[in-house]
Amino acid sequence: MSHDPNCLFCKIVQGAIPARKVYEDDDILAFHDIHPWAPVHFLMIPKQHLPSLAQVTEQHAPMLGRMLALAPKLALQEGCRPYPDGGHRVIINTGAEGGQEVHHLHIHVIGGPRPWLKG
Ligand code: 5GP
Ligand code: ZN
Repeated sequence: MSHDPNCLFCKIVQGAIPARKVYEDDDILAFHDIHPWAPVHFLMIPKQHLPSLAQVTEQHAPMLGRMLALAPKLALQEGCRPYPDGGHRVIINTGAEGGQEVHHLHIHVIGGPRPWLKG
């Protein structure tokens, strides 16, 4: 499993920086965002270092598929109400103009009673 020693989220994977974990398995880690935008806001990351969605290839598809399938389940576990009246938002910021600040691929899962985000 490849890690970047300078990467913040790799440090979280390795336990060098603490995080409030939501879920963990061999390949995926989910943890609460340190600056939540909404009542529910956690991040899902591959444990392997991957800078962004722009580097994703076919080989990553099963892992990304698992992350997406897991997102609604973890959202419910963290307090989002079920689809369709509840639900949540899934965001992957990619690159500077995509609003990405941490360059380790991550999925924001955001929800809870609105209003909390425009658009
Ligand atoms: P981006 O803008 O790259 O899509 O989002 C990065 C997210 O990581 C931000 O929402 C930010 O609050 C979160 N974040 C930055 N540093 C830390 C940290 O040390 N711990 C946790 N749990 N979240 C962080
Ligand atoms: Zn990393």
